[in-house]
Amino acid sequence: MNRRLRTDIGKRAGVTSGLLGVLCVIAEFCFLFPDLLVTRDALPFYKANLDLFRGILWASIVATVLLGALSALLLRSKAHGLLGMGLGAVALLMRFTDSVETGSATVSAGLDYFVLELLVLGLLFIPLERLFALHRQKIFRKGWQTDLKHFFVSHAGVQLLSFAVLIPAQTLFDWAVDFEFQASVAAQPVWLQFAQILLAADFVTYWTHRAFHQVPRLWHFHAIHHSSREMDWLAGSRMHLVDALATRAAAFVPIFVLGFSQAALVAYVAFVSFHAVYIHSNTRWRFPVLRWLIATPEYHHWHHTSDEEGLDRNFAAFLPFWDWLFGTAHLPDHWPKKYGTVNFQPPESYLGQLAYPFRRKKETPYG
Ligand SMILES: [Zn+2]
Ligand SMILES: [Zn+2]
Repeated sequence: MNRRLRTDIGKRAGVTSGLLGVLCVIAEFCFLFPDLLVTRDALPFYKANLDLFRGILWASIVATVLLGALSALLLRSKAHGLLGMGLGAVALLMRFTDSVETGSATVSAGLDYFVLELLVLGLLFIPLERLFALHRQKIFRKGWQTDLKHFFVSHAGVQLLSFAVLIPAQTLFDWAVDFEFQASVAAQPVWLQFAQILLAADFVTYWTHRAFHQVPRLWHFHAIHHSSREMDWLAGSRMHLVDALATRAAAFVPIFVLGFSQAALVAYVAFVSFHAVYIHSNTRWRFPVLRWLIATPEYHHWHHTSDEEGLDRNFAAFLPFWDWLFGTAHLPDHWPKKYGTVNFQPPESYLGQLAYPFRRKKETPYG
């Protein structure tokens, strides 16, 4: 094996081992303190499938140690490999002490959600983006650590964030609720409610998103989401907390007022969280016909472009219909060339990005 290839594989194995090792240790903490760290609603599900989740963790620990060993073997610098193996060993030791006894805490961190989502999405999208890459770019591209922090905050804090998202609708739109009407909405077939939620939530999201682009004060927040110069599955997580909360809170208003059933709501949330990751991915599938009907990576990549022709286009998260209706759709036959903000670049660090909108005073959109 030539030296460059050896170094390349060694580095990747080392970083993957380190990341996986951290996930394993977090997962072990979840087993140790499920009350504090695991999403409450999901606890019964984990308990019912305990062997499956222990199995996944066991396989991940083995992979961490093996990748760490491979890295140490291939690289002259053993730091990454040894760190990965060390983390694997710590997770292994923690296995003998976990309990899965639960009490009655009302709010907990959703570390389980963070670990599982990252594992599932990473296992799915990293190979997909290698096999069907649109642009040639690295897995560990510039800014991936920052995006991982955004991913961590939005997933681990899911319970607190979802409480905050419900409050504006519940306090400001209480007057619009009609229980009889809600009962008839919830009595419809789930697939029909699912389609209605998409239509209504996407309409609100369209205008919220457009406001975030066109009102300078709001654009400072949303510019963070547009600051990635390379698109991939993780880049979509880059979003200022104020932006994420406001957008989701607004989308929840029609859902709250119309009163859809729990099943339709769960299906909607599961679907949009996956779809949101997919449309940012670095994959080149174009979907003839369907590309006009639902937002695909091609559609949303045009929203993220810094090419002149695509600026302030494609605000709809899922249904391009809203963009066609309000005159903001853009879907030519070629892909965009470059991405990111125009004429300025928000900071790269996570905290810098959080502080950024509060530091900027008077700016015009894209200025
Ligand atoms: Zn945008
Ligand atoms: Zn986006």
